[in-house]
Amino acid sequence: MSAERSHTARGKVYLIGAGPGDPELITLKAVKALGTADVVLVDDLVDRRVLAHARAGARVVEVGKRGGCRINNRVSTPQAFIEKLMVRLARRGATVARLKGGDPFVFGRGGEEAEALAAAGIPFEVVSGVTAGIAVPAALGIPVTHRDVARGVTFVTGHVRGGAGPDWSALRASGTTLVVYMGLKRAAAIVDAMLRAGFPADTPACAIQDGTLETQAQVVAKLSALPAAIAEAQLDSPAILVIGEVVRHARRAANHAAERAA
Ligand code: SAH
Repeated sequence: MSAERSHTARGKVYLIGAGPGDPELITLKAVKALGTADVVLVDDLVDRRVLAHARAGARVVEVGKRGGCRINNRVSTPQAFIEKLMVRLARRGATVARLKGGDPFVFGRGGEEAEALAAAGIPFEVVSGVTAGIAVPAALGIPVTHRDVARGVTFVTGHVRGGAGPDWSALRASGTTLVVYMGLKRAAAIVDAMLRAGFPADTPACAIQDGTLETQAQVVAKLSALPAAIAEAQLDSPAILVIGEVVRHARRAANHAAERAA
């Protein structure tokens, strides 16, 4: 393909949020965009049932962390691979749906992908999705804000790159509900840091795995007991941690798998 042609036959990329798990929690706009795509690049977290909205004959490429990452016979990082692939497909004139779990701009590297597309001059559109940090607590009856007890909500990542975690003292002072994404594996270290920053040991907390899905499982415990409860219930990723007074609203989930522990 000549450079000239690559700049004339230009497609488009949709950065689409597929929602938190339950395939019905995808937006109408996402369904419509998905139905126009020639190629669908799908992440590990996305429930495969949403692919029912793809056009018959659309090419589906699994680009999760477990997917293959070769381009032009050179091994790439998954992220660089995905960005190059989107640019290459769009330059050939394809409409590309990049399907991500939850919302594409919440811990989904959608911001990086949007930058890469903008830098390459590829037209793109962001289709917001329902993020796990709101819908997963809700699946347990937990409102992330509540007029009486939580004046806001803070989303943080439990995944630390290069050492520094969040400023837990500042978060405690904020009086907001805390939702920790990607924190399950480091739950013990996170809880330890929170207790050292002055969070009361009996702060209500929970961990929810596979929220909104049939496989949903959760534990509700006081903060200091959360890591042991997670270990005992053998919760696995993907899971979020929710910490704050709002967790008192947790109820036994009526529509999902039975609670494994309380
Ligand atoms: N963009 C996504 C988040 C991607 S980061 C969103 O907006 O939801 C991946 C993390 O999201 C997981 O490690 C987990 O912490 C959280 N997560 C995603 N789906 C989840 C689910 N169904 N149940 C619990 N946690 C989930």
